[in-house]
Amino acid sequence: MSHLMNTYARLPIAFSHGNGSWVTDSEGKRYLDALSGIAVNTLGHNHPRLVAALAAQAGRLLHASNLYRIPEQERLADRLCELSGMKEAFFCNSGCEANEAAIKLARFLGHEQGIDSPAIVVMERAFHGRTMATLSATGNRKAQAGFEPLVSGFVRVPYNDLEAIRAIARHNKKVVAVMLEIIQGEGGINLADHAFQRGLRALCDDRGWLLICDEVQCGMGRTGTWFAFQHAGIVPDIVTLAKGLGGGVPIGACLTTGKAAGLFQPGNHGSTFGGNPLAATAALTTIEVIEQDGLLAHAVSIGGQIRQGLARALAGQRGVVDIRGQGLMIGIELDRPCGELVTRALAAGLLINVTADKVVRLLPPLTFSNEEAQELVTRLAALIGEFLTVP
Ligand SMILES: *Cc1c(COP(=O)(O)O)cnc(C)c1O
Repeated sequence: MSHLMNTYARLPIAFSHGNGSWVTDSEGKRYLDALSGIAVNTLGHNHPRLVAALAAQAGRLLHASNLYRIPEQERLADRLCELSGMKEAFFCNSGCEANEAAIKLARFLGHEQGIDSPAIVVMERAFHGRTMATLSATGNRKAQAGFEPLVSGFVRVPYNDLEAIRAIARHNKKVVAVMLEIIQGEGGINLADHAFQRGLRALCDDRGWLLICDEVQCGMGRTGTWFAFQHAGIVPDIVTLAKGLGGGVPIGACLTTGKAAGLFQPGNHGSTFGGNPLAATAALTTIEVIEQDGLLAHAVSIGGQIRQGLARALAGQRGVVDIRGQGLMIGIELDRPCGELVTRALAAGLLINVTADKVVRLLPPLTFSNEEAQELVTRLAALIGEFLTVP
């Protein structure tokens, strides 16, 4: 009997070590990793520069406490603001915490403006985390069931529907912010239209609302730009990050600019571990490697190779509804539930994921090679073809 709480439908394998885009399980079987621990292992496994930087930092200082200055955290804030166009950073340990900080900031600003029960517009099929506030912001009834009462103050609209948000603007005077993923990850790799993003930015400016981009999954280079909002050329007021930020070490961040910057004073928010020397070093090194190795351009080219390769290999295959994504955030939508593909892929030595029931999700490391992309396309197209023809 396991003493672990039964919170995950775990697959019955355990990995012992990894190298680049490959991981090996305890039986010695090797897998091509097209998931990166859900967009976390940005640099693949066991990256020599990340390992060396972490070992060196562990030998100097692991943790210091935010009671003191942490130079690594200050440098990381500088880098993230430089890359994103934001002004300030708050560090935490996960995506939900980054979003909690964003939600608290939006409410805090509302109260400053005399709105005593501020509301945030959120999207259908959104995923923002599992804490009470972020679960309430999440657009998935199944995830919320059994945890009521939910946190109030969220208004839900369909994704990519600017008119629905304009309608809310006309009669809801409590709205202080709009929060969205530029590409919905858990919701099935759904992309926000550029026109929707620009219209939303203009509406937020017009109304004095904050635009909050949850880039926990789509940020940190995954889509071929540092942040997914940069494709449409918009600038949010708040950006939240986690997953890939530390290349495998837990760290989250909430970045702010404009009206969202300079709001919190000591005592308003905090975290014991957030941005500690080890985690900040992990993120600094991850950023440095992405930059020095040209991994943004690489993500664009490898992502294109995978999407085009799959489109070619699956052309004419009935049951494939759509192949979409940006950079190395890719979804293949089928016409039927396909969770079973995960175990079939595992047997074939391939790590993938299925989300929103019918969408095969690929989130390979940004270091994925041309050969690995080709191998992924060949193996996955065969698996999908087989699944759709041999039930
Ligand atoms: C994973 C995810 C989160 C939650 O992150 P945790 O680190 O699991 O709390 C929030 N938002 C998005 C978009 C995510 O993909």
